[in-house]
Amino acid sequence: MGNFNRFGNMSPPEEIMKRSYLMAEEPFHIVGNTYFVGNTWCSSHLIDTGEGLILLDTPCLSELAYLIDGIWKLGFDPRQIQYIVVSHAHMDHYGAVKALVHLTGAKTFMGEVDVRDMAEHPERFRQMNEKDEGRWNESFTADVALKDGDVIELGNTKIRCVLTPGHTVGVMSHFWETEEDGKTYRVGIYGGAGFVTLSEDRLEECGLTMEMRKVFSESIDKVWDEKVDVMLGNHPFHNDTYEKHERVLRGEADAFIDPTEWRRYLQELRDRYAEFLSLTPEEVKKMYEKTSFFVYRDKAIPDLEWGFPENAVRP
Ligand SMILES: [Zn+2]
Repeated sequence: MGNFNRFGNMSPPEEIMKRSYLMAEEPFHIVGNTYFVGNTWCSSHLIDTGEGLILLDTPCLSELAYLIDGIWKLGFDPRQIQYIVVSHAHMDHYGAVKALVHLTGAKTFMGEVDVRDMAEHPERFRQMNEKDEGRWNESFTADVALKDGDVIELGNTKIRCVLTPGHTVGVMSHFWETEEDGKTYRVGIYGGAGFVTLSEDRLEECGLTMEMRKVFSESIDKVWDEKVDVMLGNHPFHNDTYEKHERVLRGEADAFIDPTEWRRYLQELRDRYAEFLSLTPEEVKKMYEKTSFFVYRDKAIPDLEWGFPENAVRP
């Protein structure tokens, strides 16, 4: 029994969460007008539309400084962010939205099902913030509540938003086209590939039924036929973001371009999900006690100089 590999426990180990600077990564170009500005744990993607920037997902608030630093390093002014698109209502994807809106005045977008869920269940979002990684992540009310199939348009970019529920009730997948060297590539990002939220206790916690498990499978089927040349992930270990970037640095310029990856990835997700469904609640619990090794990225974790007191407020 593995640990669901890239779809397993996605949370960084405690010693990294306490010092979020250990997750900071260099930003880089992916394809056409699309850049990676995420960290070891979570992806954020930046699109230069020619008429302002679109940011797809923010990190937790504790990672905001590194996001802003990354945007500057790529040669953009963070104040050029016009739109912030949030894939789903989990704080590791929206934690810095409010702070960024304060700084930039950007317009915010999220799927209408998640917008409603967030508004109707403030207690769940407070609990997520207290219990999970990082703190001071603020909920937000999106300016635009997206419907299935809606298209977000800015400058040279049109992002199609497809409802793919399961990981949350309203998670969306995103698709857009970008040009490089006279060629057009279709970029795709599957929203919410983790199924930890479908364990019996998590479903109960969220007031959801086992029906969500069927919904998760149907979402994979729904986007199976999408044509995707460049597959991104909302966690970097979903699409081997860093490994591909290292290949680019070694001279393989088109390491991110792979029209076969989308289906291979969805098949892998189906297989792991089937494995998950075959386990008892006890076995599932055990699986999620292990932190996925994808998050570590072989980073050396320096010893704390003087340690944190037991009851320290986490960053
Ligand atoms: Zn999530």
